[in-house]
Amino acid sequence: MSMPVVSLQNLKKIYKLGDNDVHALRGVSLDVEAGEFVAIIGPSGSGKSTMMHILGCLDRPTEGKYLLNGVDVSGLSADDLAEIRNRQIGFVFQGFNLLARTSALENVEVPLLYSRPVIPPADRRARAGKALQAIGLGDRTDHHPNQLSGGQQQRVAIARALVNEPTLILADEPTGNLDSATSIEVMRILQELRARRNITIILITHEAEIAAYATRIVAVRDGVIISDTPNEPKSLLDDAPAAPMAAAARAASA
Ligand code: ADP
Ligand code: MG
Repeated sequence: MSMPVVSLQNLKKIYKLGDNDVHALRGVSLDVEAGEFVAIIGPSGSGKSTMMHILGCLDRPTEGKYLLNGVDVSGLSADDLAEIRNRQIGFVFQGFNLLARTSALENVEVPLLYSRPVIPPADRRARAGKALQAIGLGDRTDHHPNQLSGGQQQRVAIARALVNEPTLILADEPTGNLDSATSIEVMRILQELRARRNITIILITHEAEIAAYATRIVAVRDGVIISDTPNEPKSLLDDAPAAPMAAAARAASA
């Protein structure tokens, strides 16, 4: 099998809270291959966001290893983590996290501002424009977030996540603030990214209907994985290509 995009090996995270230790992750091991669409589900407080922060190189584990595209990032400095994060990972959050007084185009440019070597402004604009076009917002580049619907704002955030051409997209409750029709539109875009560009997606959700669009469902509880199952995804794509995980599951049970 090829090298996993993500490999978590007996990951532990302990938060020190006054005299108390909070064991947020108690030994999590998980391999995710390129092109998988993984939904992480679990009740509030089970460690999902902690796992996401470590996956996103926003925080480091207390113990255990995290290999991202084969590189052990568990011991890197904050600066090195920031660089890896910027090059390899795109984030999509529940609250969109767009800059308010800034156009859609400029919002999508933000990750490019931190790129080294420096990307010239004209190239930044061109790449941001292309990313907006790719998710169907080519005609909204000058709009500010308050001039866009929730679904459009989340699509701007997805364009921002894509502009650096990451191998991995991490989405923490991306549909949490959206109505169900708009949620489905966001899930369709994520399914499309996976199908057409082989982007690996790890998404946190507490909604079973949302997890149903993933190719694999990982359930966590009290800081450990309690189940990990392939899922035949409910496809939102017109010409639904067979999902590798589903095909593999069928082959295994044949
Ligand atoms: P979830 O996202 O599944 O709701 P979290 O990862 O946010 O779970 O939290 C897991 C556990 O770790 C919870 O008991 C939570 O209270 C605790 N926790 C999360 N972040 C911190 C922190 N920064 N300091 C102390 N405890 C934390
Ligand atoms: Mg959370």
